[in-house]
Amino acid sequence: MLNAYPPEENWDDHRALDAKAWPRRVERRFRLVPTTCFNCEANCGLLAYVDKDTGKIAKFEGNPVHPASRGRNCAKGPATLNQVEDPERILHPMKRVGDRGEGLWERITWDQALDEIGERIGRAFREDRRHEVMYHVGRTGDDSYMERVLHAWGIDGHNSHTNICSSGARVGFATWMGFDRPSPDFANARVIFLISSHLEAGHYFNPHAQRILEGKENGATIVCIDPRLSNTASQADHWFSAWPGTEAFLLLAIARLLIENDTWDRAFVERWVNWQTFLAETRPDLDPVFDNVGPALLDHYAEYTPAEAARVCGIDEDRIREVARVCGEGLGGFAGHTWRAASAGNEGGWQVSRCLWFVTVLTGSVGTEGGTNANGWNKFIPVTPIHPEPQGEWNDLTWPAEYPLTHHELSMLLPHFLKSGRGRLDTYFTRVYNPLWTNPDGFTWLEVLADPEKVGCHVALTPTWNESAWYADYVLPMGVASERHDVGSFETHNGMWIGFRQPVLRRHGELEGESFDRTHEANPGEVWEEQEFWIDLSWRIDPDGSLGIRRQFESRENPGTPLTLDEYYTMLFEGSVPGLPEAAGAEGLTPLEYMRRKGAFALPGDQYRVYERDVADADLAGTEKDAQGVYRRPGTAGSYGSLDEINGHMPFIGDGSPAVDIAGEAKLGFPTPSKKLELFSETMRDWGWPEYATPTFIRSHVHWEDLDFAAGERILVPTFRIPTLIHTRSANSEWLNEISHRHPLWVHPSDAEELGIEENGLVRITTRIGHFVIAAWRTEGIRPGVVAASHHMGRWRLDEDKARSWGAGKASVERESDGRWRLRREHGNQPYDSDEPDTGRIWWSDTGVHQNLTFPVQPDPVSGMHCWLQRVTVGPAQPGDAYGDVVVDTEASHAVFEEWLAKTRPGPGPGGLRRPLWFARPVKPKATAYQAD
Ligand code: SF4
Repeated sequence: MLNAYPPEENWDDHRALDAKAWPRRVERRFRLVPTTCFNCEANCGLLAYVDKDTGKIAKFEGNPVHPASRGRNCAKGPATLNQVEDPERILHPMKRVGDRGEGLWERITWDQALDEIGERIGRAFREDRRHEVMYHVGRTGDDSYMERVLHAWGIDGHNSHTNICSSGARVGFATWMGFDRPSPDFANARVIFLISSHLEAGHYFNPHAQRILEGKENGATIVCIDPRLSNTASQADHWFSAWPGTEAFLLLAIARLLIENDTWDRAFVERWVNWQTFLAETRPDLDPVFDNVGPALLDHYAEYTPAEAARVCGIDEDRIREVARVCGEGLGGFAGHTWRAASAGNEGGWQVSRCLWFVTVLTGSVGTEGGTNANGWNKFIPVTPIHPEPQGEWNDLTWPAEYPLTHHELSMLLPHFLKSGRGRLDTYFTRVYNPLWTNPDGFTWLEVLADPEKVGCHVALTPTWNESAWYADYVLPMGVASERHDVGSFETHNGMWIGFRQPVLRRHGELEGESFDRTHEANPGEVWEEQEFWIDLSWRIDPDGSLGIRRQFESRENPGTPLTLDEYYTMLFEGSVPGLPEAAGAEGLTPLEYMRRKGAFALPGDQYRVYERDVADADLAGTEKDAQGVYRRPGTAGSYGSLDEINGHMPFIGDGSPAVDIAGEAKLGFPTPSKKLELFSETMRDWGWPEYATPTFIRSHVHWEDLDFAAGERILVPTFRIPTLIHTRSANSEWLNEISHRHPLWVHPSDAEELGIEENGLVRITTRIGHFVIAAWRTEGIRPGVVAASHHMGRWRLDEDKARSWGAGKASVERESDGRWRLRREHGNQPYDSDEPDTGRIWWSDTGVHQNLTFPVQPDPVSGMHCWLQRVTVGPAQPGDAYGDVVVDTEASHAVFEEWLAKTRPGPGPGGLRRPLWFARPVKPKATAYQAD
């Protein structure tokens, strides 16, 4: 964080001394161009310092007028410069010329790439094979543009990484309130409750971290649940190193104590929770009056005593009571968050967020100052100005019948579905996504990506080489944060804002009097930006307009020519962002120019207790009030539109039930069937999981009481982030790799003694499908019985000279005689010559171990979330083992896939539907597509 920032009025001509020229005083002139960071989901503001003499970006600093990041960044923000200057980045379109994976490429023109890919997609559409075209995205970057593209194409072809990331937590939150994420008001909280290492590596890391520390300075009590003594745990007042998989039990014990101690917000629960349904379903013997709710809850959760929680979770009983007391004293000020961590680790992990929200509700902290809001009330997504009809298709490869309640696509099962003959892909886009490396069971991905029968054409949209792109047919270079347009908004604090990513050198050039037809003319090499790519590709798919696609990408000002992004964003900022035209007008700017000058805009108004807002009589026209007091429009399904709509639009689009009667007043309520917070989920009951209708502890696949510790079994936690790394992409960042290039196995000294593991000694970790070899770090900062290694490290490349980076070791991949795959690290990082002198100064060699390869797919049967925690056998390395070795049996992994598939309770559900209509879904299809055949 800087102490002072260049004043905004000087951003076009900022003068500063050149630090590199010291001790001489050499003044340089810069233009400061705002954009937003693309190195995690938070979209913090950046200011690019463009040197006016060289025309190059000299550095990135924080943008002080960005409402979420407020001028601050984590290490990954300024490291954007490394990505711009990376000597190994891809600068031109490439097409495969050898076999897949052989590493032989030729440079082609963009025209050739667009023609060939557009022609094959157009043919698939004309032959009614729309379901064979898939867009698989890792980091989205933009909130709504791709929905527009896929709707225009009329395909249910969206795939995401979310079921290996966050869908577990989302289901737990959504079944309570319709919204799938919490938005804690950390800065004003009295209790900050974190089930993760949120302070150092959280969702919206930098914006949340600065507000957590503000809350701490203001006197909030911080509680952290994490088996590791993370940096977050070290800042906490109370650290629970609970057994992984038992977090929900602890939360229910706290919830029960709140009721037992009569320190719960009875008035809030009576007003906003569907307690009548809870009583009717669980205690039909009781009168349906609110006074019976407390006793009924105590009965319902009778087993969740502090003593039993202490035993099951392996923590101190008195501390549980103490934390419950603190929560009870802080009614209305409970700011809680869980994201990946436990809800992404355990079978039943989705109940961790459901139980956390239970505590939020009991403390009356929903949407309060210092409490926890719903994400949709702090995130703003503008309606796209040209908005095609949703698709009428349903894709069973991504939304299979076995998982009607999954929150996102069953992305990590795609290769198994293709292997099982459920379908094939004609054209498969991967975009900021490296499925072979990031997913569990990567060798199964390798088998499928290498097989043209299963994947006809793989197009990798990526700024840099990666393990998956190596098996692609086309590798098309896309821009990093300073080379593209996107809009993004996230629930970083109470309030709504929208950020604008823009291509910095294009903006600088335009202000210098240049003009550009396309952003790649200003970017390095021939690096495109995706929004222009989709416009031009759509024209090639539908050159004569007969598919009805082209017109969605045609200029409204100049019909017959492609839409330009200036035109698109002019329409978007003028028509879809409340308050922006007025704010821009006050400064004599157009809305687009305002966003180009500032990079972000905070929407007016506060967002506390939104559910209490009155609904006007005019908005109730045509509705009927049902027995639960919900105003419904006859003939609608109560559907709430797409995931983007439910997460960001105010008011909801397509909402068939706009209000609920609360004490005689029509209130906005929550986007659930009851319009209230659902303690009892009738959806869970009706869709085959009645035992999970209320917040519940589910014994996980790594429950400690099931492990054979004497035989060397332990729980492996592979989910935690290193705050200076970016999943798979930071290998192309010099500074980040120089800071962080190791991920040793955390092992408690008592375990190390028992298992015969030396400090820095090699350890073999055996999973159900293979093993990997890693180095040990003996530390008391981890719970005995648990071992852990961050997922960030272990990048590799197959070619000595191609696809190098700052963090990918040279490896070989072979299939052994018994059919098992073996990855062997040949060497780690080494200095090498390039145009960038620093590549000759690489001093670190470790590149880590690719542990994800050895994990079978373990989709939670309800949420579909991959359960990342592994039940493993830990022991010293065996003769012949080498650091970085990975061995995997993909036949065994397919058997595990079938085993977990058998745990599901397939749809269709009530009404013959594939999925509850009210559940959010990315790129939501028309309601007719929900009807199962
Ligand atoms: S938290 Fe760091 S990586 Fe994420 S957007 Fe902000 S500066 Fe970038």
